[in-house]
Amino acid sequence: MAKKNSLSFSKFIKRFSTEQACTDYLYQVKWPEGYVCPKCGCREHYPIRHHGRYQCKSCRHQTSLTANTVMHRTHLPLTKWFWAIYLVACDKRGISALALSGKIEVCYETAWYMLRRIRGAMEMRDQQYYLEGIVEFDDSYFGAKIKGNRGRKAGNQAVFVAVSKDETGHPTYLKMKITENIQRPSVRNFITENVKPGAIVQTDGFRSYRQPLAKDYIHESQNFDPDAELLKWLHMVIGNAKAFINGTYHGTSTKHLQMYLSEFCYRFNRRSFRGGIFDRLLIAVAR
Ligand SMILES: [Zn+2]
Repeated sequence: MAKKNSLSFSKFIKRFSTEQACTDYLYQVKWPEGYVCPKCGCREHYPIRHHGRYQCKSCRHQTSLTANTVMHRTHLPLTKWFWAIYLVACDKRGISALALSGKIEVCYETAWYMLRRIRGAMEMRDQQYYLEGIVEFDDSYFGAKIKGNRGRKAGNQAVFVAVSKDETGHPTYLKMKITENIQRPSVRNFITENVKPGAIVQTDGFRSYRQPLAKDYIHESQNFDPDAELLKWLHMVIGNAKAFINGTYHGTSTKHLQMYLSEFCYRFNRRSFRGGIFDRLLIAVAR
């Protein structure tokens, strides 16, 4: 699949105007080397009359093109899904359910549901990766009083944030996760789930960080000085995440915060691949 993302939305709609066009494309994305039975691995199969279903020649297991994808059993045409994925992929500021419902002509509830599923796929995709090398780590607070607040008691929802850096000190990969509290066991969980052992982890001098980072990581800490270069990228990224959430979604309730943070991370982690992001997102939702 070549990069095709300079397509405008009207050209995109034309290209994917039929269920057949979307089916063919999804088939390529899901089975790039041809059909494989998910049960026994056999490659030979019969297509079944019903739209998009296939039966394995050896074990007779049936599967559909949309099985295990965000599009499964949604009773929505693939065309609408494709258009929604395109719009999510192309608008780097994100798209609201209201805007999406107008553009692809579905009701608000359907647009909301589609976005939730697409964001879920983004989150799952990013869960496969670990941060490694040099990693900046801190907690932040998101909520009603987002603006300018950086202190540990301000705002209302605690979030762990970690960003890895390359040799030149530029950020490479980002993770953000809401947390009930910022005590040691929570710190430990976040770190072991997201950062590879052996990484250098840079933090401020907050006490809860010391013990969870003592064993499997190289911990570098300094007391926080707002003018220092310490955690520079991390604080910039947090500022951008708050602007993204406030700008596109006009703030959000704590209930949906993780979903938006995951979307922000997904976009951040692919910011240099803008050309091919539709294909990437389609792969994320299709597999
Ligand atoms: Zn089979």
